[in-house]
Amino acid sequence: MVYLNGNFIEKDKAFVSVMDRGFLFGDGVYEVFPAYNRKIIGLDSHLNRLQDGLDAISIKNPHTNNEWKDLINKIISFDPNNQNQAIYLQISRGSDENRKHTYGELKPTVYIQSSAINPREKSTLLNGLSAITREDIRWLKSNTKATSLLANTLYAQEAKNNDAEETILYRDGIVTEASSSNVFIVKSNCIYTHPKGPNILPGITREKVIECAKINNFNVEESSFTKEQLMNADEVWISSSTREIIPITIIDGIQISDGFAGPIWSEVYDQYQSLKS
Ligand code: PMP
Repeated sequence: MVYLNGNFIEKDKAFVSVMDRGFLFGDGVYEVFPAYNRKIIGLDSHLNRLQDGLDAISIKNPHTNNEWKDLINKIISFDPNNQNQAIYLQISRGSDENRKHTYGELKPTVYIQSSAINPREKSTLLNGLSAITREDIRWLKSNTKATSLLANTLYAQEAKNNDAEETILYRDGIVTEASSSNVFIVKSNCIYTHPKGPNILPGITREKVIECAKINNFNVEESSFTKEQLMNADEVWISSSTREIIPITIIDGIQISDGFAGPIWSEVYDQYQSLKS
């Protein structure tokens, strides 16, 4: 079952108009909420980011936070067998009579669905995974979680074509984030990640990782680092709601540090797991 514009219906019966600006222009925003055993990690943070996204593209929020919570919980409850779910929620600007770039007052299209998430077991991550790097040529509003994700999907496909987990992006030599995750490095026991701003999506998992690291008394600097520092880091991780925290040990075919997931990743990973219960 999915939710579309006021109705809970079977996914194969859910259709939107070809005039929907989400279809024509990628004119919308979205959120992904990770739910473990029906508990969402960072529910309010996700709803706040959704509001920020709507504000950024001038769409009036069609629901209150309590209404969103009810809709999301209902979608979660439809799936009794699958306890770990990613709830995908999308709001597009809506449909107009004709295709034109500009818009007037439209009724937003709201869509919510659930799919299974199976984050990797820790034991399968001890050798880390690989990534490739590419120049970040996306627009300078990457902090808006917009549905227009062409650049990100092309980067993700390039990673897949290279048997890599992710494409790590850099702009003018500075590592920004990855195609669908944030990037962390560890150097001399300090954790670094790109500061919030127009160049990165402010990941909710990024926020949780910072909290978990601080609980474990690690130093965290929200300051940028270069591609060279990435390659010479003691540890490299990526984070996202569906992947959680993944150690990266090979970048562009080159081994990072000793080629194993690091001890700081291990502690922060364990701390993050405790958010699920
Ligand atoms: N950066 C980008 C570009 C992303 O698409 C995502 C995931 N949607 C993230 C970072 C991680 O965000 P979150 O931790 O909220 O899933």
